Amino acid sequence: MKPSFLELATKGVQQLTPYQPGKPVEALERELGISNSIKLASNENPLGASPLALKAMTKALSSIHYYPDGGGFVLSNKLAEKHQLDASSITLGNGSNDILELVTRAFLTPQHSAVFSQYSFAVYPIVVQAVGATANIAKAFPESHESMPLGHDPDALLSQIDEKTRIIFIANPNNPTGTWLDPATLENLFSNIASSIIIVLDLAYTEYMDEKLQPPIKLWLEKFPNLVVTQTFSKVYALAGLRIGYAMSNPEIADILNRVRQPFNTNALAQAAAIASLDDDEHVIKSVAMNKTGKAFLQNAFSQMQLKFLPTMGNFIAVNVARGGLGDGLVLYQKLLAQGVIVRPVANYAMPEYLRITIGTHQQNERFIKTLKQCFD
Ligand SMILES: *Cc1c(COP(=O)(O)O)cnc(C)c1O
Repeated sequence: MKPSFLELATKGVQQLTPYQPGKPVEALERELGISNSIKLASNENPLGASPLALKAMTKALSSIHYYPDGGGFVLSNKLAEKHQLDASSITLGNGSNDILELVTRAFLTPQHSAVFSQYSFAVYPIVVQAVGATANIAKAFPESHESMPLGHDPDALLSQIDEKTRIIFIANPNNPTGTWLDPATLENLFSNIASSIIIVLDLAYTEYMDEKLQPPIKLWLEKFPNLVVTQTFSKVYALAGLRIGYAMSNPEIADILNRVRQPFNTNALAQAAAIASLDDDEHVIKSVAMNKTGKAFLQNAFSQMQLKFLPTMGNFIAVNVARGGLGDGLVLYQKLLAQGVIVRPVANYAMPEYLRITIGTHQQNERFIKTLKQCFD
C-alpha cells in the first residue's frame, strides 16, 4: 500500500504551500486567441538582455558539453573588482534565491528563528520553513503611514529578534511593496542587531534606487562582519531566465555558503552572460532611465484615476485597485488577463486590494493604462 509521502516529509516541508507560478504566456495567448499579450508581472527588464551577453552566450555554446567553472573564477573576480572587495567575499548563486536558501541551510535548524517584515519577499518564508525553522514576522508600517506605507518598520523588526534568532532578512527596496529604508536608518538598524545574527540585505533592485539611497556596501561589510548582501542579474541586467545572482560577505561566511552550495550551482551560459553584462554599463543606464520615465508616467496615470499606490524604488509599482466596487485585485487581474495584459495579484502577500505592476516600455505602459481604464468603465 502507498504510504502518505507527505506524512513522511519533514515537518517544515509539510507546512509549505507550493509557489503558484503564473500561466506561461504561450498558453495564455492560445487560450485567448491573441499573439500580442504583454507581461508586466515578474519585474523583468523589458529591454531584454545586453547584446554583449547574447554574444557571449553564443560563443559559450561551443563548449557547453563541459561542466561550468565550479568556482566561477572570472565572474567572482569581476564582481569583486566592481565592488572593491576581495574575491573571497563573493558567493555565486543559481539566482540570488539560491543564496537565500544557502544562508538558511547553513544557519537555521528547527530550534532557530528568522526575522523578516510583513509584506516582504515571498521566498523568505519558503526557505525558512523548508528547514523547519520559525519565522518571526514583524509588523510593517500601517497603510496610513505618511511616508512609507506597508514598509519595513525597523523597531518592529528589532522587537521580533529573540534568543533563537539567527537570520534577519531585509529587502531594500522591498518586493512587492517597492518601499525602502534610507542608508542612515539601515545602518542604525544594523548597529542594534547582535553580531551573532546574520543580516541578509537583499538588494535585488538596488540599481533602480536614487543614487543617494545606494548603500555603501564595502564600508558596511567592514563595519558589520555579520552582513550578507545579495544582488542579482535577474532584474536590471535582464538575465532572469539564466538564474544567476551573488552574495557579498565576510570571507568566513562566504566560505560557509560555499560549503553548502552544489559544486556547479551556476551554469556556464549564465556565467558567460553575467561577465559580459558587467561590461555594458550603458545598458544599465538606459534601463534605469526608461524605468524612471515609466514610473512617472504610471504614477501620474494612477493619480488621475484616483488610485492610491505605494512609493517605490524598484521597477514595479504596487497599486491599490479597490476603488469603484471592483473589489479585490484578483477580479481586476482576471479582467486585464482577458485583454492580454498580465500583471501580478498579490493576495498571496496578504495585499488583496493591490496589484503589482512591472514598469514596462512606454508602449506597454500605455497599453496597460488604456486597458485598466476600460476595466474600470
Ligand atoms: C526578484 C527578486 C530577487 C531575485 O531573485 P533571483 O533568484 O536572483 O532571480 C531577490 N529578491 C527580491 C526581493 C526579488 O524581488
